[in-house]
Amino acid sequence: MAKIIDGKAISNAIKDELKEYVEKKKKEGKTANLAVVQVGNDPASSVYVNNKKKACAYIGIGSSSYELPEDVTQEELLLLIDRLNKDEEITGILVQLPLPAHINEDTVIRKIDPGKDVDGFHPMNVGALSIGEDGFVSCTPQGIIELLKRSDIEISGRECVVIGRSNIVGKPMAMLLLRENGTVTVCHSRTKNLKEVCKRADILVVAIGKPKMIDHEYVKEGAVVIDVGIHRMENGKLCGDVDFDDVCSHCSAITPVPGGVGPMTIAMLMNNCCKNIS
Ligand code: NDP
Repeated sequence: MAKIIDGKAISNAIKDELKEYVEKKKKEGKTANLAVVQVGNDPASSVYVNNKKKACAYIGIGSSSYELPEDVTQEELLLLIDRLNKDEEITGILVQLPLPAHINEDTVIRKIDPGKDVDGFHPMNVGALSIGEDGFVSCTPQGIIELLKRSDIEISGRECVVIGRSNIVGKPMAMLLLRENGTVTVCHSRTKNLKEVCKRADILVVAIGKPKMIDHEYVKEGAVVIDVGIHRMENGKLCGDVDFDDVCSHCSAITPVPGGVGPMTIAMLMNNCCKNIS
């Protein structure tokens, strides 16, 4: 039976460490303040935004909300970001995605000061990651590295296969595994013989966006399986990109959905916010 990697417990431990760090910094008169920008009132986005604000409150990071109407113009949004960039009190800026179709997400991301880009999406931060320089790193893949390290799973020298090449998950995941000296293969929708490639993996990271697509036929006996996917099924329950029940008996360790990668994303966002305490 596989070890179930408890992302909730690990993320709680990280949040407690950060809380202690923030309290110490406060005594030195140093604080962090996150500006959270939401456009429209998509219910899923509102849940994410509230969870982020709750985590800030728990750790002791200040947070301020900027709620803009669905029909706000791109120009108005860019003006707000410009104001937040210049505001010395604000140490981190987060624009909740997705944005309405009339707003270009790339333009918005590029407008955020890279030094306040706690999501790690700005091209300057993406570039820094790929050449091994310091910068903000995308939270979900950063959280996966933490999950592996805190579960004593060796990365160095091991075969790591990432399914998915998105800018937010797949690509930064590959760069981080490479930074940890893994031997990395990235798969996507055009990959041939996906099963065979996946079966090479000691560590298989799945970020496809297809419910339960990965079953035991993709998994080498004893591999570590990290499931990034998150989907709401018809019965109201959540599932991942991995068929958990089918894969469980084949692997040595696996992340559940919910309670695996998801909670780590917020913990790493908080970690990024704490980088700028001054
Ligand atoms: P994207 O849709 O941006 O990317 C999906 C990737 O999977 C693409 O690279 C695509 O290939 C590849 N892919 C799609 N179908 C196949 C297939 N049949 N075989 C092989 N590769 C395939 O998704 P994201 O990276 O943003 O997210 C992935 C999943 O993770 C989603 O379920 C999302 O909800 C979840 N997620 C969870 C987070 C968390 O905190 N837990 C955070 C972020 C995402 P191609 O490039 O060729 O199209």
